[in-house]
Amino acid sequence: MRKFIVGIVVLVVGLSSPAFAAGRMVPLAAVSSADAQTSASQDKADKDRKKAAEREAKDAKEDERLLDEAQAEIDAFALALLEAKYDDPFLQEYVNELGQSLVPSETPAGVLFSFRVIENRAPNALALPDGRIFVTSGLLTFINNEAQLAFVLGHEIGHVIERHYARSIREAKSRARIGAIVGAGLGAIIGAASKGKQGAVGGAVAGAAIGYAVAAVTMNSYSRQQEDEADRRGVMLALDRRFDAREAQGMFQKLASTFGDEDRFGNALWGRHSRNVERIENIDRLLGGDLAARYNPLRAAGELSLGSGQMYLYTSAMIRDTAIDYMDDDRYDLAKTLLEQISSYRARDPKTLWALGKVYKTIGRTAADRNKALDMLQQGVRLDERNRYPYIRRDYGLMQARLGNTAGAVESLKSYILNYQELRLADPTDIENMYDYLLTFGDSTWKAPKLDTRIVMASSDPDPTVAPPVPVSPATSSPAKPPQNTLRPPTTPRPAQRRP
Ligand SMILES: [Zn+2]
Repeated sequence: MRKFIVGIVVLVVGLSSPAFAAGRMVPLAAVSSADAQTSASQDKADKDRKKAAEREAKDAKEDERLLDEAQAEIDAFALALLEAKYDDPFLQEYVNELGQSLVPSETPAGVLFSFRVIENRAPNALALPDGRIFVTSGLLTFINNEAQLAFVLGHEIGHVIERHYARSIREAKSRARIGAIVGAGLGAIIGAASKGKQGAVGGAVAGAAIGYAVAAVTMNSYSRQQEDEADRRGVMLALDRRFDAREAQGMFQKLASTFGDEDRFGNALWGRHSRNVERIENIDRLLGGDLAARYNPLRAAGELSLGSGQMYLYTSAMIRDTAIDYMDDDRYDLAKTLLEQISSYRARDPKTLWALGKVYKTIGRTAADRNKALDMLQQGVRLDERNRYPYIRRDYGLMQARLGNTAGAVESLKSYILNYQELRLADPTDIENMYDYLLTFGDSTWKAPKLDTRIVMASSDPDPTVAPPVPVSPATSSPAKPPQNTLRPPTTPRPAQRRP
């Protein structure tokens, strides 16, 4: 608890001091009584102490009042953020569990920590004053191991226990720059980088009563000094759990080399190039400076680790989906890097193979690249034994045609249409294009079965031994499917590999 009080005192002293504005912290010793030898100076020191304590109590009360006042607004914001919660309970539990393990035993009253992943490509993280912490899928995508994730969560815990929001709320109120902050902050968190479901969430947030409190807790309104303090906390909390906090530099390096300041994600603090470079240096300063006495012995004793090595087991599906989103942004280079990074964890995942095939198909320049694309797509079709992804068959067919195998293309496009019908009970929206392609590739007569016929026949046929009314054959190379009632051994997930 003592540490926390020190934090508040420093903040409080700093707030009312011109030295704070000048970027210098007032050391606690300033109100201590080192020179209290005479009774006069003793009296003065006592008075100063009393004054500081009164100011502290008053400010703590004011913080509480501000938070009370803002609670409804913060709740509305949290609700909107939860709408964008990444739909993967396995991943959510993993992140929450790691976060909870980092929370120090003494926390401010009224704070209950929770850790959640929200779906958004902009790399970001934020903490609400009551301890609700959110990390975007866009940031998680660039995290390579648990040590890095521990640092990120520890940083956000730091904002909460240092009560950084209090100063930010005051500033936002006094400077009346709320509009600008809301614009930048919300833009970064749920704004321009969003689509689909998140677009709706952006609307919900805009419709909620957004004011100074939410403006204050969005990342862009924290001062650089507060960010550095939170980084320091992140390092300390990670070390408490024996994670090698220096790992965070690798994450910042990756973010810095991926995003520029002019990038559309530049507004998100964790996506801003220049700031990420500074934070790499900041961690150097911390680990080589006042935290060296703590870091070096742990490091020398081999007590620090990157974590359990299990992270990709939880995040690789999310990274795949983020990579696919990046293809929509024409960032095929980034998509390729991300997909290759997780490919060994998802070697039997049709969607990963499809995405890799699409990347090679799009940015490949040589015949070898095109053959690689064909190979990936073919493997994707073969592995899609549950027929979950009809479009792999379509893209495989088009690739076959590009490489001169029009007969194979015809078969693949037919199986695309049939699989799509089976899955969605509708014709593919691009069926007219498909008929054009079939005609081009040499089949001018084949017709997709009428949907109502398929539905009626499928639902009136309870006998599983009777052949299905419509042959739905996977593309060319697929092995025949076993009958429905055959038990198959479950596919066991590949164990995650420990990174070197
Ligand atoms: Zn921060």
